[in-house]
Amino acid sequence: MSTVQYCSSCGTKLETRAIDGHDRIACPACPFVHWGSYSIGVGALLKKDGKVLLVRRAQDPGKGYWTNPGGYIEQHEPIQKTIEREVLEEAGVESRAVGILALRDQPRDIHNVYVAFEMEYVSGEPAPDNYEVDAAGFFSLEEMAAMNVAPFTKWLVNIALNGQNGGLEKDESNDLPLKNAGLFKVPTGSGS
Ligand SMILES: [Zn+2]
Repeated sequence: MSTVQYCSSCGTKLETRAIDGHDRIACPACPFVHWGSYSIGVGALLKKDGKVLLVRRAQDPGKGYWTNPGGYIEQHEPIQKTIEREVLEEAGVESRAVGILALRDQPRDIHNVYVAFEMEYVSGEPAPDNYEVDAAGFFSLEEMAAMNVAPFTKWLVNIALNGQNGGLEKDESNDLPLKNAGLFKVPTGSGS
């Protein structure tokens, strides 16, 4: 299944061997273990005046579908910065990630986790980048009914408009000894 054949650390041909009860692809010459292939996607749920920001995909996968803005995380970029950047790049709108409303897990050859952020509007009028997307705007549920909205986006929009609490909120006041860690939690009241 895997296309990984050579060690990315030392170049030795990899072997399959049991590690902690699982067959893993590992290097016989150094400590490298190929734990698997994973990707992490992020999406933005940005509400303004009861409407939600959508973009129309100009490229496959999903060309022609309206979706919420989103993308994939970068190695050393905090996840909330990624989604703020993607919204600005795709739709020309400045926003701030304030929490997490939903998560999708897709175990497959490249195991994907998608994190849907609640965004706070800061400034800007929607304008497509005309590369990844060719249209952008804030739309009501009534307007979306006549649009080609991707099924997963419909699921997310319903959560954004009808969610019963704020989801996981960004915790910037913690004193954990973690460098560059983003922390999100359910509300626990003041002083916690
Ligand atoms: Zn190696």
